Amino acid sequence: AAFSTLPLQAEIINNLATLGYEQMTPIQAASLPHVLAGKDVTAKARTGSGKTAAFMLGVLNQLETRDFEPQSLVLCPTRELATQVAEESRKLARFIPNVKVLTLCGGMPIGPQIGSLEHGAHIVVGTPGRISDHIRKGTLSLRNIRTVVLDEADRMLDMGFVDEISDIVSHTPPARQTLFFSATYPDNVQALVERFQREPEFVTI
Ligand code: AMP
Repeated sequence: AAFSTLPLQAEIINNLATLGYEQMTPIQAASLPHVLAGKDVTAKARTGSGKTAAFMLGVLNQLETRDFEPQSLVLCPTRELATQVAEESRKLARFIPNVKVLTLCGGMPIGPQIGSLEHGAHIVVGTPGRISDHIRKGTLSLRNIRTVVLDEADRMLDMGFVDEISDIVSHTPPARQTLFFSATYPDNVQALVERFQREPEFVTI
């Protein structure tokens, strides 16, 4: 189906057309209607399936650009994936003037990240360890978060991030939207779904 069949802002559809995205990928077609309806979603999807747009278009469609505090938090297992997600998100956000997507990952100096957070950001993409560090230091406020995304949830759990993830999600407002993307659906992912999602839609393609 075409993106134009979705309840997306006209500017978003136009920007997608300039990017050469006309038809939704299967994961986008199956999950975007739920995401745009504000529902929690757990989707089985691999990298390369178009999953970034499947969650980020929902985030961008309701972004308040005047509000310069993080509104969406995306957790990724590695710096490489976080960088990829941030790059794709910036492309999808090109229709919005001055939208700020910030990457916060370990293995990078924390000082400049704190400076960037002080300048303000709309969307934060990062790895669980470093995001936890910023919460502990009080340099990242999650009080305005409306959407939390766990990207490659199974991989993050395999890497031992369960405590960090639980702590981070617990610091976000209870009324948030929670979106999980995972290539597999083992018991530990199911446990996170049961703990942090409300009446989720399950999407497999
Ligand atoms: P992702 O799975 O989010 O990493 O996306 C994989 C790649 O597919 C990205 O580099 C996008 O440029 C591309 N892509 C995502 N959605 C679409 C679409 N609907 N039409 C064409 N290309 C797409």
